[in-house]
Amino acid sequence: MTDCIFCKIVAGKIPSRKVYEDDDMLAFHDINPVAPVHFMIIPKKHIDSLAQVKPEDAPLLGKLFSAAGRLAKEQGSPDGFRTIVNTGRIGRQDVYHLHIHIIGGPEPLPRMLEKA
Ligand code: AMP
Ligand code: ZN
Repeated sequence: MTDCIFCKIVAGKIPSRKVYEDDDMLAFHDINPVAPVHFMIIPKKHIDSLAQVKPEDAPLLGKLFSAAGRLAKEQGSPDGFRTIVNTGRIGRQDVYHLHIHIIGGPEPLPRMLEKA
């Protein structure tokens, strides 16, 4: 998708600090980290959000989530991490290319969310 910032990162038109890459997915550090470890795992294929995922995308999503534990450990989150997939207006998604935030570090994170 031409106007999508994460598609531009996939295409190498916008620089990123890569964590991992293969034919189907890319992981790169968030430009505005909220914890010592904060990177994103994205499919190279453009999918707007988790709300647009189709049944045939299931293997791809499985692949993204399967990589999370290994990459989090490698990046310095040895004993767990948090995954966040902000989705749509209600989920306060800013970039409409599906991404999984992987957030962690050497110490436990703050608790989940404030009550709405
Ligand atoms: P959200 O769509 O709300 O889940 O968040 C999008 C995330 O993308 C934010 O945490 C931003 O800091 C991050 N982000 C936006 N532009 C870039 C970029 N060029 N490189 C890395 N991370 C980015
Ligand atoms: Zn995209």
